[in-house]
Amino acid sequence: MHNATIKSLSEELAARKVSGVELARYFLNRIKVLNDKYNCFITLDEEASLTQARAADGIRAAGGGQPLTGIPLAQKDIFCAKGWLTTCGSRMLSNFVSPYDAHVVERLNGAGAVNLGKTNMDEFAMGSSSETSYYGPVRNPWNVDTVPGGSSGGSAAAVAARLVPGATGTDTGGSIRQPAALSGVCGLKPTYGVVSRYGMIAFASSLDQGGPLARSAEDLALLLNVMAGFDARDSTSLEREREDYARALGAPLKGTKIGLPKEFSAAGAAPGVVKAVEAAIAEYRRLGCETVEVSLPNMKLAVPVYYVLAPAEASSNLARYDGVRYGYRAPDHTDLTDLYEKTRAQGFGDEVKRRILIGTYVLSHGYYDAYYIQAQKVRRLIARDFADAFKRCDVILGATSPTTAFRLGEKMHDPVQMYLNDIYTIPANLAGLPAMSIPCGFDEKGLPVGLQLIGDYFAEARMLGIAHQYQLVTDWHTRAPQGID
Ligand code: GLN
Repeated sequence: MHNATIKSLSEELAARKVSGVELARYFLNRIKVLNDKYNCFITLDEEASLTQARAADGIRAAGGGQPLTGIPLAQKDIFCAKGWLTTCGSRMLSNFVSPYDAHVVERLNGAGAVNLGKTNMDEFAMGSSSETSYYGPVRNPWNVDTVPGGSSGGSAAAVAARLVPGATGTDTGGSIRQPAALSGVCGLKPTYGVVSRYGMIAFASSLDQGGPLARSAEDLALLLNVMAGFDARDSTSLEREREDYARALGAPLKGTKIGLPKEFSAAGAAPGVVKAVEAAIAEYRRLGCETVEVSLPNMKLAVPVYYVLAPAEASSNLARYDGVRYGYRAPDHTDLTDLYEKTRAQGFGDEVKRRILIGTYVLSHGYYDAYYIQAQKVRRLIARDFADAFKRCDVILGATSPTTAFRLGEKMHDPVQMYLNDIYTIPANLAGLPAMSIPCGFDEKGLPVGLQLIGDYFAEARMLGIAHQYQLVTDWHTRAPQGID
């Protein structure tokens, strides 16, 4: 049962071959047995999950239901869920029980999905390895001595270990796609504004975007169909007509133009990654696609630009954690300033503090023009590079991450090496473009390789179709880590 996709579980639920309660119990049981090994989940609430499952079964019994009614899912712990501990992987929120639901949670609940728990993540989504969490590192089910990627590493590892068939994530600079790649699952970051940020704890608001992780492109479409939608409470939420993200899954690929950015190859991915990605490109040619070389001349500036803009926005967003209104409060303070200082010193981990320091610096008087404004200008140039590239192709293809899963601890003391891991994913966030990662093979160590697809604005349905057609003729996405099958 744990190898089944959301699509097939949904069919079984509809045919009443299995109930939502049975599914919830089955996966909760797997979580109980395996979570110690992977540390994917921060919070479980069996009673709350079973209550939702029973309600879903009631809807099905009455002849109702939507594709997700009764489907067990996990929520990245960045999404506020009413009555659930919502920590964002931080000591700062280690006592925060959310009084309200994020829009994404509201929509998934409304569709009858069953929340099985909150997943571990890098603190405030800052990281590429899920090691900066206050709750300890997540381990990669393909090799427990390696990282699952981050920041949505708990969600990615939970899907990879078949603890849940799908999960939510957020992606500011790659945090859905990179953990999907390193953990051998699928993940999609939609066009900025497609999924509401309401109730999604803010890291860098102009880049943050929620999206699904699952084991097939088809399942991603089912999840996105529910997660996407206008929400007046997020001022950057886009008011568009509802669309069915599964509508182009069957579209033939003949004549599809695939853009291969020359800067992607120049960035120097590991040989095992290059090999798997090249094999995937060859597969797409066999499926009738044409490949064209495109150029993203400013791509090399994406990481430096991101590490000005994201920390700038983070320093502002994280100013709210002061120990006064909610969250952690340091004991033994003498006055208000002391309360602020001690709370923030004790509540935040090192990486978060590093970002706040960088962000405060680049926004300070005298440096604002030189760093922040300059970075905004380069951001525009990067978006323009993509616009030019999409005049010549329908989708851009390449590696999601320059390496496969690295060893726990390997990059923790070298932040620049950690940051460079996002070289392929960050450009799409800066431009606000939709992008996804799907498994496309393994390296010589048997670790999964991710293939990244970047589309033009609102090309999600088409990208999902391009991914699905590949998944019809390959089986990388169905492979399970050793010991899991
Ligand atoms: N790894 C990047 C960072 O540390 C991206 C994280 C994310 O997408 N949330 O900022």
